[in-house]
Amino acid sequence: MPEFRTVFELLQVGEAERPAIRAPERAPLTYAALRALAERTVATLNGFGIGRGDRVAMVLPNGPEMAAAFVTVAAGATTAPLNPAYRAEEFEFYLTDLKARALILPEGFESPARAVAERLGVPVLTLVPETEAGAGSFTLTGGTPGRALNLGYAEPEDVALVLHTSGTTARPKIVPLTQTNVTASARHIGATLELGPQDACLNIMPLFHIHGLIAAVLASLGAGGAVICTPGFNALKFFAWLDAERPTWYTAVPTMHQTILARAERNAEIIARAPLRFIRSSSASLPAQAMRDMEAAFGAPVLESYGMTEAAHQMASNPLPPRPRKPGIVGLPAGPEVAIMADDGSILPQGEIGEVVIRGPNVTLGYEANPEANAKAFHDGWFRTGDQGMLDEDGYLQLTGRLKELIKRGGEQVSPLEVDGVLSEHPAVAQALCFGIPHKVLGEEVGAAVVLREGMQATERELRDHVAKTLADFKVPRKVVFLAEIPKGATGKLMRIGLAEKLGVTA
Ligand code: ATP
Ligand code: MG
Repeated sequence: MPEFRTVFELLQVGEAERPAIRAPERAPLTYAALRALAERTVATLNGFGIGRGDRVAMVLPNGPEMAAAFVTVAAGATTAPLNPAYRAEEFEFYLTDLKARALILPEGFESPARAVAERLGVPVLTLVPETEAGAGSFTLTGGTPGRALNLGYAEPEDVALVLHTSGTTARPKIVPLTQTNVTASARHIGATLELGPQDACLNIMPLFHIHGLIAAVLASLGAGGAVICTPGFNALKFFAWLDAERPTWYTAVPTMHQTILARAERNAEIIARAPLRFIRSSSASLPAQAMRDMEAAFGAPVLESYGMTEAAHQMASNPLPPRPRKPGIVGLPAGPEVAIMADDGSILPQGEIGEVVIRGPNVTLGYEANPEANAKAFHDGWFRTGDQGMLDEDGYLQLTGRLKELIKRGGEQVSPLEVDGVLSEHPAVAQALCFGIPHKVLGEEVGAAVVLREGMQATERELRDHVAKTLADFKVPRKVVFLAEIPKGATGKLMRIGLAEKLGVTA
C-alpha cells in the first residue's frame, strides 16, 4: 500500500489516465483531472478566506459532485457533509455546532439550509457542475474575496472531516476526524479488501455518513481504483447499475442487502455475468442467514465488517478467501487494535464478554465540545465503543450487542442481536429486530418486530416456538409484531431503541 497521511497525498496515488470518479451515463473523471480539481478547489477556497482547519459544510445530493467535493475540499480545509433531508431546525443546529465557515450548495437545488446559513451569516458557495470535464468536476462560485490564515494543503494533524454519529442510541455526537484518521482508515480498508487500480466500487451509501465516505470513496481512491457514484440506493435501479457499470464490489448496510436479496432471483442473469469480487456489509449486524443467502445468490464472498464514526469507519472485518469468513461474526481486527474491557477497566482474556475497546491511528481524538462523553469514552488510551462482545479462539470478534440496547429482563441480560439472528433463520422471516418492552416487575420484556418474506406466513406462536428450540426461555420474545417495514434511521439502520413506544407495544 502506498504511503499517504493526508487526503491530498492520497489523491496522488492513482495513475493519471485511469478513472477515479465515475457515474452512470457520464464520462469518468480521471486522476489527473481530480488532482487538478483539488488544486483549483483549495486555491478557490483560500481566495475566499477559507484555509486549513476552516469548516465547510456541504449539503449536496448523493452523486459524483458530492464525492469530488468531499475529497477536494478535504485537501485544504475541513469538510462537514450534512444530510440534504434535514429540516431548517436541524441545519441550524449543525451549522451552529460545527462552527461552519461556509456552506456549499449545488446550483439549482433549493434547500432550507440556504435561509438558515444567511440568517447565521455563513457564506453560501454555489457548486456548479462541469459536466463535460468528467463526472464530479465542478467550480465554486459566490464567495467573497478574503484572507485565510492557513493557506495550502492540509497537514496530517488537521481535521479533515467532521461528522455526527447516526443517533441510533442517543442524540448524535459530533466527531472530528483528522487527516491521519481518515487516511489510516482508507488504507486499512484497502488492505483488507486488497483493493487496486482495477477495482470499481458501486456506491449506493449516503455520502453524509462515514461508511460511504471512507469505505466507498476514500478507500477506492487510496488504492488508485474507481468509485461509481449513484444518486443513492434504489432497489429498482441497482441491478441495472450492476449490469451497465460492472463494479467489482459494493458496500452497504444490512437493510439494503436484504432489499437487494429479495430481488436477486428475478435478476439472476445479471448476477451471473457481474464481475463482483466480493460484497461488503457494515454499520449494523448482518444476520448469519442473510449472509449465507447472499453468498448463494451472488456466488461471491460476503465480508461483514464492523465500523463506527469515531473510528473513521472500519475496526474489524472478515477476510477475503482463502481465510475463513464467519457468518454472524464481524471478523478479525482490521486496522486498530481491538480488545475486550471489563467494567473495572481491565483487559479481559479471549473468550470473555465485555466492552469492545479500540486504539489506533484511525480513532478520533475525542468528541467535540462534549467533555462528559469524552470522560466516559476514553480509558487508559483505549476508546470504548459502547458495544459488547468477545474475541473467539481464532481472534475473530463476535459482537453480542450494544451495551445500551441489551434487554434487561429481571436478573437476566438478553442480547437482542442473538435473538434477531435466530428469528432470521426461520424460513418465513425476512427481517427481525428485537427490542425491550418496559415491564413493571421485570424491568423489561423481550419483544420482536418481524417482516415476513413475500408470500410467506408465520404466526407469533410458530416464531416463539422456533426461538425456544435454540434459546433459553427468558430470551424468547413474549410479543411478536408483524410489520411491512421496520423503522430506519437516515443511514438505513434499524432503530431498536424506543421501538416499543413507537409501535405502541406494552407488556
Ligand atoms: P450513535 O452513536 O449516535 O447512537 P451509531 O452508533 O449508530 O449512533 P455509527 O457510528 O454510524 O452511529 O454506528 C456505529 C455502531 O454501529 C457501532 O458502535 C455498532 O454498534 C454498530 N455496528 C457497526 N457495524 C456493525 C456490525 N457489523 N454488526 C453489528 N453492529 C455494528
Ligand atoms: Mg455510536
